[in-house]
Amino acid sequence: MSPIDLRVAIVGGGICGLTCAVGLAKQGISVQIYEAAAKFGEVGAGVGIGPNAVRILRELGVLDDVLSRAEDTGCNISMFRFISGMEGHEWIYDYTAGPEDESRGVHRAAYLDALVSHIDPKMAHFNKRCTSISASTDGHNIIHFSDGSTADADIILGADGLKSAVRGVVTGTATSSVKFSGGICYRGLVPTTEMRAAGVKLDLDTRPACFVGKDKHLIVFPIRGGQIINVVAFVTNRDVPIGEAVLPPGEATVVSVPQKEVLDAYEGWGSDVLGLLGCIHNPTKWNINVVYPHLETYVNGRIALLGDAAHGMMTHLGAGAGQGLEDVYLLVKLISHPQTASYNIETVLQVYDEVRRPRSQNVWEQTLQAGDVYEGCGPHGYSFEGLRQDLTGIWDYVWGHGVEDDVRDAVRRLENLGVYHSM
Ligand SMILES: Cc1cc2nc3c(=O)[nH]c(=O)nc-3n(C[C@H](O)[C@H](O)[C@H](O)COP(=O)(O)OP(=O)(O)OC[C@H]3O[C@@H](n4cnc5c(N)ncnc54)[C@H](O)[C@@H]3O)c2cc1C
Repeated sequence: MSPIDLRVAIVGGGICGLTCAVGLAKQGISVQIYEAAAKFGEVGAGVGIGPNAVRILRELGVLDDVLSRAEDTGCNISMFRFISGMEGHEWIYDYTAGPEDESRGVHRAAYLDALVSHIDPKMAHFNKRCTSISASTDGHNIIHFSDGSTADADIILGADGLKSAVRGVVTGTATSSVKFSGGICYRGLVPTTEMRAAGVKLDLDTRPACFVGKDKHLIVFPIRGGQIINVVAFVTNRDVPIGEAVLPPGEATVVSVPQKEVLDAYEGWGSDVLGLLGCIHNPTKWNINVVYPHLETYVNGRIALLGDAAHGMMTHLGAGAGQGLEDVYLLVKLISHPQTASYNIETVLQVYDEVRRPRSQNVWEQTLQAGDVYEGCGPHGYSFEGLRQDLTGIWDYVWGHGVEDDVRDAVRRLENLGVYHSM
């Protein structure tokens, strides 16, 4: 059996599952996607695609489509400004990546639409909520869905997000790995014209910004060619140590809140921050959950996790989707490798785990620390000079990763194991 004969089932059609499906299908691999919802969909918000992720989308042949759907006119989010959230909005620090480090802010729905345009509708199955996975006698995996139906495949990829059903099958434990981080954020999209009319003076439509302050910060970046400003305003309760709290049963991850709640949370902050928040008419509040403690494996036999299902993390480096895309790229390259076949696929997936788990979990740790820095709890404290020290190079590890680095590492490991032969 050559890789072309391996049948892959992807559980979950979010950013990572869909990108993985497109990448594998482009390599001629048979893929089916099983999505719990009635259609592919994303929240109405922006997502930052860092240089590492931009390189992957380019290699997978979907970057131009994503940018054109997103009406992207070239705002590079790697030019991040850090500004005091307090009145006066003093400049603190500029993070400027190299010219080759292109990154983008895009509307999530536009991203998904671009991906969907590459999907053969016959590959997509909706209203298919995975509840469990079992093994058949001939070595296939069988996915069970809540409607009583089943599907089988040679490889199952769990891209079913933070509340993953596949995760428990991989880790072999019924205990939930999803924890409440103690952080919440308010999200909204603001038309640039309205922001200007509200008297906001800083130019937030050409470059991204992070407004820093004690126990709170805002991430702001333009999407849709600068016509819309994506706003995410964080509030952290540090009395809740990470990993020790879970949301009470029944408490929703996302709720609509009155605008007053957002303005009250930022009482005493500077006029541009309050002006911007005052333009969010229908804010949503997000309880930020993470996967913690770190999983000991992302793979069990022929079942592998990717994206938030494997390493749902804090949002502070805008790295979660990017880490998922790094998983995707390695999976696509390994599953479609000419020396991958049915008899060695389990070792190939094991090597995927060995390569991707340490890096994605390191990024997880760095995103947590970044939140501390932005909110005055970093190693050098809350002075502007202390912040500058802690902000220097803050994205280097995340963004500096070459698209082929993991592939080279994995292929070398497989050659050392005698699974692949050097060509
Ligand atoms: C406020 C905020 C801001 C963020 N900003 C950024 C950013 O700027 N840059 C960045 O890189 N990341 C960012 N992230 C993180 C990023 O959004 C996630 O890492 C990314 O969306 C994860 O994609 P995913 O495909 O793994 O999971 P999801 O997007 O959660 O998709 C999972 C899919 O699986 C489906 N599903 C769930 N359960 C089942 C089941 N049992 N059976 C079948 N289907 C199922 C769901 O319906 C969904 O379609 C941010 C996150 C938040 C909360």
